[in-house]
Amino acid sequence: MSSKPGTIYSAYHTSQWATKTKVNAIVAMLPLWQDGLKTVAAMWQREWHTTGKLPRWIDTKPLGGGLSQRQWDSVSRQYRGMLVSWMELAENRFRGIVRDSTLDEPLKIELFRIDLKHAWYEPGDDEAHWLARRIMKRVRHVMRLPDPAHCRTMSLDGKIAVIEQPHTATRFRYWARISTLEKDRPVRIPLNTDPRMEEHLANGTETLANHLQLQVTGNGKLVPHLLTTRPETNPREDGDVLGLDWGMCSLFATSEGRVHGLKLYAWLKKRDEELVNLTKALQASGIKPSRSKRYRNLNRRIRNYVANETNRVLNLIADEQVRELVVEDLDFRSPRLGKDMNRLVSRAGRNAVNQKLKALKEREGITITKVNPAYTSQTCPSCGCVDKRNRTKQSVFHCVCCGRTGQADIIASRNILARRSRKDGWRRISKTQVREQLAQEHSQRRHRHGNKCQAGTPTTSTATAHTHPAPAGRIGGQENR
Ligand SMILES: [Zn+2]
Repeated sequence: MSSKPGTIYSAYHTSQWATKTKVNAIVAMLPLWQDGLKTVAAMWQREWHTTGKLPRWIDTKPLGGGLSQRQWDSVSRQYRGMLVSWMELAENRFRGIVRDSTLDEPLKIELFRIDLKHAWYEPGDDEAHWLARRIMKRVRHVMRLPDPAHCRTMSLDGKIAVIEQPHTATRFRYWARISTLEKDRPVRIPLNTDPRMEEHLANGTETLANHLQLQVTGNGKLVPHLLTTRPETNPREDGDVLGLDWGMCSLFATSEGRVHGLKLYAWLKKRDEELVNLTKALQASGIKPSRSKRYRNLNRRIRNYVANETNRVLNLIADEQVRELVVEDLDFRSPRLGKDMNRLVSRAGRNAVNQKLKALKEREGITITKVNPAYTSQTCPSCGCVDKRNRTKQSVFHCVCCGRTGQADIIASRNILARRSRKDGWRRISKTQVREQLAQEHSQRRHRHGNKCQAGTPTTSTATAHTHPAPAGRIGGQENR
């Protein structure tokens, strides 16, 4: 799908009542579609690697392979969409690596510029371009490119799937006329509709897009999604600005002192035990976890729970009083949960939060501001003291310097809010530089007030420009936050 800037697409799940013969005619396209995706993936990637950018369109004319030219166009657009979504996530990874590196400032600025344009493979012999390619290699080691071989969704645009309204009264809301592998023999399938979608169409907030997504389930069932478009909502001008922390004890804490989702970690802790025991049992009997239905079901249950809680809580927080949310580049890992669980929650949580924040921006007009999270959990909002010992317990903050105490996640969310007034939210400076800046401000303050800080001056390391940058192994992590 080619997305226009300022336009929001929504997908609505619908049901279909096609006969077995019609379903089979459509499902028969899937293997060819997947092969097609693999073919165009190679073409898109070649184009991307050699020119450094993604054109709007590539020529698929001589391809054949059982698909019509119009079907090839849809396949090609679908892979481009997958690649664009991947790039948006890669941009964050890349920025994090550059930010936490020991490169000198001008080089960092140049790399941030390249990252913002997604021009990592832009041809160039200078140091920045050479580094950009090396850092991208690192990013792609962690984040694999979208793999079309396992894609079971066919994204059909209006040229090969026309959505029509029935002329006569019927119990179906729409017909989709779909081109299949047999030339000039389209299949017409009756579609039901989604009540929420009809509501949005009726009040004019959304328009039906001439586009159909067809997902083929593992047992050969067909799951259609209808798409709508709507213009992006204008940013809100009135309301509060809230800092938000995704904490260790609560799912979210806000700078005005509310905590939400306290039950989540208790629930996850129980599931974590189940997960560890199940993995052990499977290993003992020599079964690969991914091949166990019980394991997959438990995984799905955890993912869904995290996603539902995230949506529920963010809906509560982002009520009509809020105009802006200040958030960190997030990470959900907790030292209290096992390795597998952390990986699962981290991925599910990050996806759910990113999706929800995007929706809040596009649909509700809430501004989302991201800031550098370094040391936000260890800094005292009263005196500015940064010390690991301020947070020896997960849930309690206790300043070793001035004695201030508080709920740790709420303190962190206040620090996140405060970081909004720093240039770029300090997103473009490293952890070390954040630490130095905070330590310097703290000591100036103590000097002015003549306070005694029992903790003494925190040791700082100096950030110097190394000739050999080490972007490797410095990705994410909140152990130092
Ligand atoms: Zn303090």
